Amino acid sequence: MVFRWFKNRRRKILLAKPAPPEWESWLKEDLPFFQRLSRDEQWQLLDMARIFMEEKYWEPREGLELTDRIKLSIAAQACLLILHIEHDYYKRVGSIFVYPYTLMDTDRHDGLPPGVSIHGVASQDGPIALAWDAVRGGAMNPDDGHNVVFHEFAHALDFLDHSADGTPPLASREQLDNWIRVMTDHYDDLREDRCSVLRQYGATNPAEFFAVATEAFFEKPRSMQRKLPELYELLMRYFRQNPAKWSD
Ligand SMILES: [Zn+2]
Repeated sequence: MVFRWFKNRRRKILLAKPAPPEWESWLKEDLPFFQRLSRDEQWQLLDMARIFMEEKYWEPREGLELTDRIKLSIAAQACLLILHIEHDYYKRVGSIFVYPYTLMDTDRHDGLPPGVSIHGVASQDGPIALAWDAVRGGAMNPDDGHNVVFHEFAHALDFLDHSADGTPPLASREQLDNWIRVMTDHYDDLREDRCSVLRQYGATNPAEFFAVATEAFFEKPRSMQRKLPELYELLMRYFRQNPAKWSD
């Protein structure tokens, strides 16, 4: 309780100072989705991104020069997911490692598994690792259903209840039952068939399905709403956002 009081006080003090004036321009230039939000949402997202930047431990890797502009881009994309839901800034994510480029299978890095090319990695109670070239590319193309920050932070939401099962903490038993029914139906469909809305990687397992569906929800909302209306409705209720109504 006392800790929460200190935390809230620290956040208020931080926000009492104005953000550097160029930060809003950076958001507009670097994140096309930012222009689609309402003015109130833009202010709120900037405030949340500032707190996120301040409270996470950031570590540049492989010689990357980790600037405020890079941190702001990652923070704002991460905070978009929690803009309208109850949250504590992904409290189980303490650190963010940022690599300059996509990691290939021959690389060996702390906390990262060997494997195929890696744009980002989220692990339970571990850091989130991101490749800046993939983050920047994903952000600049806001309509292709591919965004590594949305993807990894959807995993972080999933991990909040200590299990990687594609189901983040939900408010009620009824919501949970509905979530499992809708997610399972669509996951099974994706495993059987290709889908023009969701990337096939979502068929890997239920955790990846939620992460891939989150990317599509924010980046291809109108086609998801048209082709997968039940899934769209479920995610709209969860995130309490309706990106299909965003202005172009
Ligand atoms: Zn994933």
